[in-house]
Amino acid sequence: MSSSNHYDVIIIGTGAGGGTLAYHLAPSGKRILLLERGDWLPREPSNWLAQDVFVDNRYVSEDTWYDPKGKAFQPQIHYFVGGATKLYGAALYRLRARDFGELRHHDGISPAWPIGYDEMEPYYTQAEQRYQVHGVRGEDPTEPPSSAPYPFPALSHEPRIQRLSDDLTAAGFHPFHAPCGVMLDEANPPFSQCIRCGTCDGFPCLVHAKSDAEVLGVRPALEHPNVTLLTNAEAVRLDTNAAGTAVTGVVVDHAGLRDTFAGDLVVVSCGAANSAKLLLASANDRHPNGLANGSDQVGRNYMFHNSQAVLALSKEPNPTVFQKTLGVNDFYFGTDGFDYPMGNIQMIGKSQAEMFKGEKPLETKLAPDFMLRDVAGHAVDFWLSTEDLPVPDNRVTLERDGNIKLSYSASNATAAGRLYHQLKSMLGHLGMHPDHLIPRHAYLKTDIPVAGVAHQAGTCRFGADPASSVLDVNCKAHELDNLYVVDTSFFPSIGAVNPALTAMANALRVGDHLVERLG
Ligand SMILES: Cc1cc2nc3c(=O)[nH]c(=O)nc-3n(C[C@H](O)[C@H](O)[C@H](O)COP(=O)(O)OP(=O)(O)OC[C@H]3O[C@@H](n4cnc5c(N)ncnc54)[C@H](O)[C@@H]3O)c2cc1C
Ligand code: SF4
Repeated sequence: MSSSNHYDVIIIGTGAGGGTLAYHLAPSGKRILLLERGDWLPREPSNWLAQDVFVDNRYVSEDTWYDPKGKAFQPQIHYFVGGATKLYGAALYRLRARDFGELRHHDGISPAWPIGYDEMEPYYTQAEQRYQVHGVRGEDPTEPPSSAPYPFPALSHEPRIQRLSDDLTAAGFHPFHAPCGVMLDEANPPFSQCIRCGTCDGFPCLVHAKSDAEVLGVRPALEHPNVTLLTNAEAVRLDTNAAGTAVTGVVVDHAGLRDTFAGDLVVVSCGAANSAKLLLASANDRHPNGLANGSDQVGRNYMFHNSQAVLALSKEPNPTVFQKTLGVNDFYFGTDGFDYPMGNIQMIGKSQAEMFKGEKPLETKLAPDFMLRDVAGHAVDFWLSTEDLPVPDNRVTLERDGNIKLSYSASNATAAGRLYHQLKSMLGHLGMHPDHLIPRHAYLKTDIPVAGVAHQAGTCRFGADPASSVLDVNCKAHELDNLYVVDTSFFPSIGAVNPALTAMANALRVGDHLVERLG
């Protein structure tokens, strides 16, 4: 290996975790190599075409994964500089303070994190500032304490959503302005980067106004001459020294050619499934079950939320363009008669006519007055998110061909069902057809891939005990001196809010530790 292939730090993966860490470490002056298996996401008119993005899956990778029965499927995953954040909805929530402690759920226990909310709080504040989160404190009854206001004002509701907010308030609930990472300046529209379009959630941003890890993580990092990015560079294996105590080589498939790089510190941030895959594929004599896997926890406890994308029908038309401005957490920790956490309700990107099935779907029988075109014009789209619990048998393993095998059974179905029925029971008060709350995929040609692997987490959880966790509190592998993991793999539990801000905040926290370690 030539000395030019040696770096102080190698970061594998440039998404919410890796891209944020790169930004944080860049000013240190250390030689940093970013390895990204994908390319830059092309800026092209297709970025904003529902047919291309939702129906033709233009930006979904061609990976093959397997289900537990060995059946191949194409995961809804995106390999680009910036990772999943290139397509994400940019709802940038903090976990609730109680999510860091042990929480009793209907189906079992959501375990405590090895650090408390107070330790993460300063990094949440920094992450909100880096990712330009728009929001307002004090509206959400479950909001954790914060040391600073949101750096930007909340996005205004459009009239139908404002009415929804008013109706919810009148019914005694506490709707809030959802924390949102889009660079919208409503006070000065001619100079606003974001144009508040209807193709945000699940689409790339053509004008780079979404707070994603490419635009606000990787690009600013690359302004530092000590940072190098290799695209189309997939890490396929980590080699260790003979004792198995340190990673000595990162073997990379770079546009079809094999290359090996060395780093004093190696940070894996490939997303929860792919980080587990890389560690499992790096088994050697000292680590026969996969790298850093003496605990047998690598790949286990895969979580991705028990989520439901549902569609209600407004009595009045819903011409909303940017719908993702409202959230409801009144049922996050339960409700009268159900003393277990239920989860978060938020809006998702407004469904559009092009996304609807051409033929008349069965479900319109439920709303006989509505022709399909009326459904598109009246749809109000909600996303219900219930915490799924870390279950050891929900796991990533490797199939014989080296690809990912994903075994998963949902937990907390009762809580998810309660949340659905709770919202359904409220529709009559919200100007919507009372009996009509149905899965969006019944109407759409293909649904937004949030129900796929979008919120994947777990697989390399952090903890104090090496027998039951993969990483220590600094997200360093217990068993190796120079190996870290900073994507959502480290989550011991996932809470019921979107995960990206927590991955970003944690990357900043781990980044502080690494800066200290690098001297
Ligand atoms: C459609 C959609 C909507 C979403 N909406 C929201 C939302 O509104 N709010 C929210 O908080 N979260 C949302 N998410 C989830 C959020 O994007 C993820 O939680 C977050 O990006 C996870 O960060 P990560 O660093 O773990 O992984 P990623 O961001 O996925 O980054 C992993 C990176 O590693 C690269 N990689 C993988 N394997 C290798 C390898 N072997 N070698 C080199 N590189 C590799 C990948 O290409 C990728 O760039 C959404 C996701 C999707 C897909
Ligand atoms: S709403 Fe703003 S950030 Fe989102 S895609 Fe449109 S212009 Fe980009």
